Amino acid sequence: MAELKFDVAIAGGGLAGLTAAYALAKKGVNVALLERGSYPGSKNVCGGIFYPVILKKLIPEYRSEAPIERLVSKRSFHLMAGEACFSFEFSLPTECFTVLRAKFDRWFAGKVEEAGATIICETLVEDVIRRDGRAVGVKTDRGEIASNLVIIADGAPSLLAEKLGLRKPSKPNRFVLGVKEVISLPEEEVERRFNLSREEGAALIFYGEPLTKQASGFIYTNRESLSVGVASYLHQLARLQENPNQLLEEFKRAKAVAPLVKGGTIKEYSAHLIPESYEGELYGEGVLVAGDAAGLLNSSPLFLEGTSLAMASGLTAAEVSLEALERGDYSKRFLSKYERMLNDSFVLKDVKRYRRFPEFLEKYSDMLADYPRMFGEFLAQIYSADERPKEDKVKEAFARLGGKIGLLKALLFLLKLWRSTL
Ligand SMILES: Cc1cc2nc3c(=O)[nH]c(=O)nc-3n(C[C@H](O)[C@H](O)[C@H](O)COP(=O)(O)OP(=O)(O)OC[C@H]3O[C@@H](n4cnc5c(N)ncnc54)[C@H](O)[C@@H]3O)c2cc1C
Repeated sequence: MAELKFDVAIAGGGLAGLTAAYALAKKGVNVALLERGSYPGSKNVCGGIFYPVILKKLIPEYRSEAPIERLVSKRSFHLMAGEACFSFEFSLPTECFTVLRAKFDRWFAGKVEEAGATIICETLVEDVIRRDGRAVGVKTDRGEIASNLVIIADGAPSLLAEKLGLRKPSKPNRFVLGVKEVISLPEEEVERRFNLSREEGAALIFYGEPLTKQASGFIYTNRESLSVGVASYLHQLARLQENPNQLLEEFKRAKAVAPLVKGGTIKEYSAHLIPESYEGELYGEGVLVAGDAAGLLNSSPLFLEGTSLAMASGLTAAEVSLEALERGDYSKRFLSKYERMLNDSFVLKDVKRYRRFPEFLEKYSDMLADYPRMFGEFLAQIYSADERPKEDKVKEAFARLGGKIGLLKALLFLLKLWRSTL
């Protein structure tokens, strides 16, 4: 690569990097985005419900252009307990939709190029070049690129932010591993199985057996396929010597899941880390960190939202970069504005509000697995077909349940669950 010089160099062409590049290019900034994959999206994994909070600001006409799979108008949560399963489902008008990231990010990258940014693919950023302690460009496997500012958006785990000392070295308990298959099914079969009309989509989240403690499963409907996956803490997988592929197979065989995925053909398999902790620095001398690279993700199981936070932080990084370029001030002191802006926005408010959930999961994982099973036994007892009077069965079932759970402990559990998820 010949000696190249840009105002801003962005490492990583996911949602955070693409958003920053788009916003900067629209303002006429000379920006380069470096992506290790053969095109943006080729290496990206997401369940994936897309939250268009920022997209609708950037590209108001996105609904008629973007490769949207289905609008997620039905959501449900399922607690599996072997043979039993407790479900809570609701329908709602929505702007959120399912995407296949390989298609979606590629479309978005086209918009970024149209806006005037330079996207350089198949290029791995190996390090940030520093002079007198300040970032002045990036070193790639194809040569060096000079820039006034660097935005790190390489996803999780961010090796670049780690190298700069902006993130602590990666530890398994700070990441969840998500493994996902895209399973193709005819369009009408997707609609029949999930009771959907043509545009509608569904998002189903699962907890409980056969998934191990601290693991969850998901099914999202696409137009002619399902995104089916499991997510589990890395340190738990290591501790239990669990194979994530096997966990996914067990999930697909679960009584509540098997009929939904039956007969489908696996089109795609992917695995990716999800950051579960926000700690470290969001900026340094001449450098900003955005998206998953900075641990900006809402990890509440009710929301699991990373797409909007990645885009919002990418946009904020672009806004601060623009001001820094105008002033010619790339100092850490000036760039600290980035953190202040994120603190005032939903990004850090949500991240900080819900960061207690991983702790909750760690502490109460036994209960999350045991309570659904006990509740299943309770219901099985009161709905059993025998000649005993119902009142006797109900009393007996309550006595057994109360003896096993303990009212105070259960109330405390529910309170903590409420506080860490809502
Ligand atoms: C299984 C799973 C399910 C999820 N489900 C949802 C969901 O339903 N809804 C939701 O909102 N969020 C979901 N998320 C989270 C969401 O996908 C992320 O928060 C979001 O993609 C983060 O975007 P990003 O741009 O920060 O990082 P990424 O999307 O990871 O992009 C990083 C990019 O940087 C590139 N890159 C990495 N290193 C380098 C390098 N050294 N040089 C050059 N390029 C590099 C990568 O190839 C990639 O293109 C899910 C995540 C996973 C893993």
